Amino acid sequence: MSQLDEYMNKPVSALVADSPRLISDVEKERHYIYSLLLMSMVAYNWNGNKRGVPDEIKPSPSKDYGLNQLLSTPEKPVKRGKFLSNDYLGHNIAAFAVDRDGFIIDFDFNHNEIFNSSVQHAEARLLNRIFSLNQIHDSWNIGSRTENITSYGQLLQGVTIYTSLESCAQCSGIMTLGNAKEVVYMQDDPGQYKIGNIMFRLTESKDPNRKALAPRPVAAKSFQFNYFAKLAEEFELFKKEQKTSSITSFLCTEKAFLIFLNAEDELASFNESNLKFPDEKLNKNNDKELTNKKVLEESKDFYRYFAEKGRRGTPH
Ligand SMILES: [Zn+2]
Repeated sequence: MSQLDEYMNKPVSALVADSPRLISDVEKERHYIYSLLLMSMVAYNWNGNKRGVPDEIKPSPSKDYGLNQLLSTPEKPVKRGKFLSNDYLGHNIAAFAVDRDGFIIDFDFNHNEIFNSSVQHAEARLLNRIFSLNQIHDSWNIGSRTENITSYGQLLQGVTIYTSLESCAQCSGIMTLGNAKEVVYMQDDPGQYKIGNIMFRLTESKDPNRKALAPRPVAAKSFQFNYFAKLAEEFELFKKEQKTSSITSFLCTEKAFLIFLNAEDELASFNESNLKFPDEKLNKNNDKELTNKKVLEESKDFYRYFAEKGRRGTPH
């Protein structure tokens, strides 16, 4: 009997519900740090001009999301937002992958606009590259500790994806094909119909020792990441005010940008003394795994690397 049969006579709410697992306080702390890092990266590359910058042919953007005004206010200078005054390159959505020991493998941004495509999502681009990287000699510890990996279909079972926006069907599908461990997301996307939750539930195994093929979706609210609620709250207001439910338009607004900037500030001032579990890790017997103190160092190092060299063959 497949999982689909099991849900056939249940209400839809049973299929789309979150699948929470117990997350230890140590793990919550490391999720929190990685999530601050991801929001910092989005803030750094922020682009506010979804309709493009004004030029002679197209004198003004058809929609002003507030940032153009913010840019023109001398008493409120914006230090960050590398692409604030540039033409639009892609949505303000990013993702990175973390291996089983806590090292960050790589990142990517949404590039829909550059490629004039609706499938160049951050997670899809990221996952495709990780499959390629696995073929280099010095590979990351992407597999699980407990199972021998015999197929590329199990390759990513130790990998956690962090994404700033809940994943779509395409990206959830790629993560499922790669058997990724979990996907942690910083904002709900109501336009994706909880597809990540559905795929997780339908691919769960009856064997408690085997993971589902799909990654378990982990909403950042499950580890008290306050920016999750702030983004949801501002998005609701945006929908009412602008009479649109476009989340990528919301992610061009000043209100959204300020939330990401606050997260960036928090990471910048976050230091070892703020950690409750500096010397803890998830598996005490794993010598290679990073402690939370090392996770913080890794995150700050990665941010510097990203800001200095984080190009992926495109301007964004
Ligand atoms: Zn996607």
